Amino acid sequence: MSQVWPLFTNIDVDYGENIHLYDRTGKKFIDFTSGIGVTNTGHCHPRIVNAIKVQSEKLLHGQTTILYNSMLDELSHSLQKVLPEKLNCFFFSNSGSEAVESAIKLVRHATGKPNIICFQGGYHGRSIGALSLTTAKSVYRSGYQPLMPGVFVSPHPYFKQYTEEDNEKRTRQCLEELKHLLNTQSSPSETAAMIIEPVLGEGGYISPSESFIKGIREICDKHDILLIFDEIQTGFGRTGKYFAFEHFGVIPDILVIAKGIASGLPLSGIVANKKLMDKWIPGSHGGTYGPNPLSMAAAIETLKVLEEEDLINNSMHMGNYLLAELQKLKNEYPEIVDVRGKGLMIGCEFVAENGDPGTFIAEKVRKSCLSKGLILLTCGPYNQVIRWIPPLTIEKSEIDKALTIFDSALK
Ligand code: PMP
Repeated sequence: MSQVWPLFTNIDVDYGENIHLYDRTGKKFIDFTSGIGVTNTGHCHPRIVNAIKVQSEKLLHGQTTILYNSMLDELSHSLQKVLPEKLNCFFFSNSGSEAVESAIKLVRHATGKPNIICFQGGYHGRSIGALSLTTAKSVYRSGYQPLMPGVFVSPHPYFKQYTEEDNEKRTRQCLEELKHLLNTQSSPSETAAMIIEPVLGEGGYISPSESFIKGIREICDKHDILLIFDEIQTGFGRTGKYFAFEHFGVIPDILVIAKGIASGLPLSGIVANKKLMDKWIPGSHGGTYGPNPLSMAAAIETLKVLEEEDLINNSMHMGNYLLAELQKLKNEYPEIVDVRGKGLMIGCEFVAENGDPGTFIAEKVRKSCLSKGLILLTCGPYNQVIRWIPPLTIEKSEIDKALTIFDSALK
């Protein structure tokens, strides 16, 4: 094979149907990865496939830097319905990393300030700018340094098996350290923005407290610093709400979106207030491809499916069910040290007997599940967390099937 990166599985995938994938021999797998949080509407939802087919006969390349295309307005309008009024201007691109680059460029351009603060454990992409903000694992960064200058990393409370009281203490400490960073390393007058995933993805499926996210918003407001939420993984119903920021009652200045937006076709973007976006003078940012008409057609239909099939609520209900069931397994198996999550974005963390991260156990369980037809992925700084991110179309009986396999793998 000519591929240079390691594969999590050796499945030679042929086709997908809702929560299932089939290999070329016809073997069926339950997909609890959703292609890393992309296929929220399931694999090859017939309505979305049809929208792509219809569009493919009309126009394949939109040339949006040359031509106006009313699909852009239709897509923006559909997104606007599920976003706060303040977030009313869109810039679309193809991949998540590309959208993060857009955010970096916009905040630098609009504020004239050079620095960006990110948070420990965050994952924002692989291109050099986005990678510079990524601290989920050093394997992503090593071999590519020095990365983009002007990036400062602030601590994240990284909650897990701690008590409520501990969590609040860690939140206060982290906010103090953020203030200290502004006072000692990157002054507000040089800090354009802060960027955070409201729920850490690759970094371990960790949700901070409301007070942490609110505290960051307050510090940004006090010092005239823009706040960027990277909701590439958490968006479009993954956490049981349309966007994870709704859990925290905090609205960002810039929202970065991708993955679940187009059910598998490449589409990403940033959303901000028009006043901020207008600071980008025409021609100062752009690209040949984004947004592709097929991706836009898929996205417009995806938003309808999410709404009409009530998939955001399903994510919340099925997520609560899965979380409760995994918590029962935690009580049974001492190797599971923590089970946490919001909606259908759930992490199950393993620990070794000597207290070290349970990398080996998580990998063994993941592989055993795979051999029994259940595809799961790991995450976390030591790959010690198994993540549960099925399509939002999942039903209780299918969760039960996956849990039976997981339980037998644990045994
Ligand atoms: N940000 C977050 C939160 C992500 O989860 C990812 C992808 N895992 C990215 C950025 C990068 O997106 P892409 O791989 O499409 O460049």
